[in-house]
Amino acid sequence: MPIYEYECKNCGERFQVFLLPGEDDGKMACPRCSALYVKKLISLFSVGSEPSSSSGCKPSGST
Ligand SMILES: [Zn+2]
Repeated sequence: MPIYEYECKNCGERFQVFLLPGEDDGKMACPRCSALYVKKLISLFSVGSEPSSSSGCKPSGST
């Protein structure tokens, strides 16, 4: 599910909104100050925790 992040230009509040494909996001109000001056930042697609594969070269100085 697409997640849209908005930033309120009035109070600077950032909030994420779940929008269905085709959903009208023209009248998105800030949940904090209820202002309509919001700007769409980015669209995330089901942000999950990336597999942190620690494949790094450790400096093994054991001799
Ligand atoms: Zn606001």
